[in-house]
Amino acid sequence: MAGLTSRTIAELRNGFRSGDFSAREIAEAFNAAVAGARALNAYTVETPEDALAAADTADNARQRDDLQPLSGIPLGIKDLFATAGVDTTAGSNILKGFKPPYESTVSGNLRRAGAGMLGKLNMDEFAMGSSNETSAYGPVISPWKRSDGGNAALTPGGSSGGSAAAVAAGITPGVTGTDTGGSIRQPAAFTGICGIKPTYGRCSRWGIVAFASSLDQAGPMARTVRDCAILLETMCGFDPKDSTSLDLPVPQWEAGLSSDLRGKRVGIPKEYRIDGVPEEINALWERGIEWLRDAGAEPVEISLPHTKYALPTYYIIAPAEASSNLARYDGVRYGLREVPDGGNLDAMYAATRAAGFGAEVKRRIMIGTYVLSAGFYDAYFNKAQRVRALIKRDFAQAFENCDIILTPTAPSAAFGLGEKMSDPLAMYLNDVFAVPASLAGLPAMSVPGGLDSLGLPLGLHLIGRELDEQGVLNAALAIEERAGFTAKPEKWW
Ligand code: GLN
Repeated sequence: MAGLTSRTIAELRNGFRSGDFSAREIAEAFNAAVAGARALNAYTVETPEDALAAADTADNARQRDDLQPLSGIPLGIKDLFATAGVDTTAGSNILKGFKPPYESTVSGNLRRAGAGMLGKLNMDEFAMGSSNETSAYGPVISPWKRSDGGNAALTPGGSSGGSAAAVAAGITPGVTGTDTGGSIRQPAAFTGICGIKPTYGRCSRWGIVAFASSLDQAGPMARTVRDCAILLETMCGFDPKDSTSLDLPVPQWEAGLSSDLRGKRVGIPKEYRIDGVPEEINALWERGIEWLRDAGAEPVEISLPHTKYALPTYYIIAPAEASSNLARYDGVRYGLREVPDGGNLDAMYAATRAAGFGAEVKRRIMIGTYVLSAGFYDAYFNKAQRVRALIKRDFAQAFENCDIILTPTAPSAAFGLGEKMSDPLAMYLNDVFAVPASLAGLPAMSVPGGLDSLGLPLGLHLIGRELDEQGVLNAALAIEERAGFTAKPEKWW
């Protein structure tokens, strides 16, 4: 059926329920779109038969009047989520061929709610990156092009780059992403879609390949705020298998959506006005303030004094935790094994890790091992933990004077493939606005605000109080309604 792939999850759900089309028609339309978009390199594995099987189950359930919240909706799953019997590689050669015997809690929650799977989505290796260029499968190509005729391939952002490109290109109605320091929000901004990272602990990390355990969170990415609310409700929930999972009921975020912000104060952090950010991004930020004022909110200036330490703190803590988490890839238990001729066990470990990990992952393991080493632990890791506490306290104090914080999502629009790969520090700067909320464990979301002068999407970023996903979603909805962002990339693939 024509036009199915341009619909939102809410529209697909409602049309399916009222009998306008079948779940099978939805799955077939998206399967065809996935197969027709391989030039984007968004999927690492396609699972059309999975999407069809879930669709048939949904069509039968509709006849019996036994529908689940996501019956009839096919989704893409980031390759960081363990999917039973389906390749799960975290974008790394070291896990090539690994088919987990179990399903991650979050993807299992989506399945139990009736969703089918279109495939696994490409990503930066072990979610380390901001451009999807560290993937062992090669980069994802953004569906967006610059309007000035520059034909250069652009990055969709990262690390959830396949997730973002797939939603923007209409080859899935929604996806899972993960966000350790911006990996849902920055790619959402680069591709003109929505993405929310909930409060740390809302989504179970069980079965998600670990990068930095004190920061990793799953979250949905989709075209609209409502679609994110729908997916988030299903993804979240207490899980005894994750010791940091929050034992709290999951609110009905979709039912709670309201863009009436009367009585709310929007904090504008003065430390987020940083040098080198293009004027267009600051201008969009000003428009965002006006949109929220128009929705009834009162803007107030706030201060987050330790903001400038957030990136260095993140780039100590995240690699430290990564170096420990990645110690398990040794050629014994998972995926790749390299055995040098005549080598002993140590030689096998070394050869496997040398062959299996890419350059960025090795860089992080080396930084992480260094900052955790006996001589440097206090100078780096311990100090970073203390600064992290100060950053968290900044937010707690700011939220005494405001209910929600508005900033730009990223300091630039999408850049060209290859542009920043030789300069890790320039790459790390992408996360400057995203990382503080990650260190503080707060819910945060990117919503499209408009296009820049080259026709590329720019995002606005909302940070909420702990557990106030509703406040984040509602402010994003107020922006969505006023920004009127309907732009889509022109199909070239
Ligand atoms: N770009 C950041 C990094 O490389 C964040 C990645 C993420 O959130 N997974 O670490």
